[in-house]
This record gives sequence, C-alpha cells and structure tokens, in this order.
Amino acid sequence: MNKVEGINWDVRFPKFRLARDCFSGFCYNLKMMKLQRKSVFLILGVLVLSNIYAWTVVYELTKSQPLEIVFFNVGQGDSIFIETPKGYQILIDGGPSSVVLEKLGDEMPFWDRTIDLVVLTHPEHDHIAGLIEVLKRYEVDYILWTGILRDTGEYEEWERLIKEEDVKVKIAKIGQKIITPKVFFEVLHPFRSLEGKEVKNTNNSSIVLRLVFGNNSFLFTGDIYKSIEKEIVDRGLEIEADVLKVGHHGSKTSSAEEFLEKVSPEVAVISSGKDNTYGHPHQEVLETLDKYGITVLRTDTEGDIKIISNGKNIEIK
Ligand SMILES: [Zn+2]
Repeated sequence: MNKVEGINWDVRFPKFRLARDCFSGFCYNLKMMKLQRKSVFLILGVLVLSNIYAWTVVYELTKSQPLEIVFFNVGQGDSIFIETPKGYQILIDGGPSSVVLEKLGDEMPFWDRTIDLVVLTHPEHDHIAGLIEVLKRYEVDYILWTGILRDTGEYEEWERLIKEEDVKVKIAKIGQKIITPKVFFEVLHPFRSLEGKEVKNTNNSSIVLRLVFGNNSFLFTGDIYKSIEKEIVDRGLEIEADVLKVGHHGSKTSSAEEFLEKVSPEVAVISSGKDNTYGHPHQEVLETLDKYGITVLRTDTEGDIKIISNGKNIEIK
C-alpha cells in the first residue's frame, strides 16, 4: 500500500482532572468549623470518598483492557463505539437521534466527557444526527470525515459545530493510517479526497475503515454499495476481517458475494431499526450471509451488540 500521510498519535492517556478546588474548600471549612464533631465526620466521609474516587481514576488509567466494540442499537442507523486496550475512545457515526448519548453514558465513566476520535462515514441523517448531539456534549479531539458537500440543516449544523469547537479535522482518503498503541485503523475508502465536492450518491462516499488488533480485524463499511465493494476488491486491498459491519443496514444494494468471500468474516453485524420502512435487512442479504456460514447479529433483534477481542479471539456479549 502507498505510504500516505496519516494521523499518528503519541502514547498518551485520556485527560482527567481532579477537582482541586474541592480540596482547598475542604481546608477552609476545616478552620471555620473549628473541628465540630459533626463536621469531622462529614469531612472524613468526603476524604474517604475522595480517596475511592482517586483510586478509581488511577485504576481506570492503568488497567489493561481488551478491545471493546459496541454496535449501539440506535434504531435505523449506525453508531459504533470502540474502546482500545489503552483507553482510546472512538465513535463511528451517531445514529439518527440523541439516543447515542444514553448509550455512551452506559459505556463511559460518568466523569469522562472526552472522545478521542469521531468518524462520520457520510453525512446522511441516520449517521450524522446523533453526532451533532455528541459534539454539543463531549469534547472531541479528532474528527475524520469526507468533507463532501450537502444541502441539509443537519449538515450546516455539523459544519458550524466543527468550526466552532476546538477539534482537529482530518479528511479521509485511502492509505491513511490511524495509529494508537496496540490498535490501528486503515482508511480504505474514499479513493481520493472528496473535500468540497458534491457527490451523486452520498451512501457511496462512505468512509471504509479496517481496524487491526493483533490477529483480530474488523471492517466498517458505512453505507457503501456493491460498486464500491467491487472496486475495493479489484484494487486488491487487504479486507479480510473477523467481524464485518454489513454495508447499508443489510440492504440488497450492498454485500456482494465476491466482497463477502474476500472479507470472509466469522461474524456479520447488521445495524437496522426494528420494523423499519426500508425492509432492512433484505432477505437476500441474510440468505447470502447464511450461504457463507457467517454468524449474523442484528441490532433490531438483539439490541446493543458488544464484541470483545484480546487480539487473538473474539467474544460476543
Ligand atoms: Zn445509513
């Protein structure tokens, strides 16, 4: 693969701030209350709680976790949360509503209001709407998106927010690598920068990412159609993966047999809404996946799907 400029991150931990004011406030109160008995117990309680809190933070910072990937059940849309063994948090798409905030609340510690990387595969409602809510409530370090032009209110709000907030914006293009300790992502699509361009089919402009952790790999395909799947195959890109996020919510526009053969996943995840009006996932896609003996997991029937990897094996929760 060509060596193209990518995003390289240094080893660093997510930021946590201990509330120092709290400690100076405590000292002040100690003098003012002249060690009244009641206050002493209150203060001891605060100290014990502070101690537990501090150790919890230390534990969260130092523990070595597996890789966790959660396909959120956000209805008809995509939203995937990834936490790497070193604690990097990545969100691919935000689904069609603010439901993603509840889902993030379940996965992230209550004090953590930062996300390292947000990926918008393409600016369609069922991928972008939830991300707008995320940008309003979380401090996001990096954004990776295509920069294509759209004419919707949500798109305008997205553009306004990424300009206003202090976010480092990267435009996706094949060949880029996003490197974190132990885990890296490769950008496989778009094949050229689409920044400032109008595209005929927004779905087909989706960012395609392959995540690699040890011997395990995961392929995220956004909503690409068979035509892009074919081009990816024709280019001979490395796309083999243990887990495939099935393109376009299991629509028959996607998941060509040739593509599935090359990816050769053990597990395919379909993110679609219960009783959605599009009829996703389509029967013929389910039949094709079945034909290749691929285990199918669906957010519409199983809710949130969590996949854990230790770099050797994957486990489904
Ligand atoms: Zn979609």
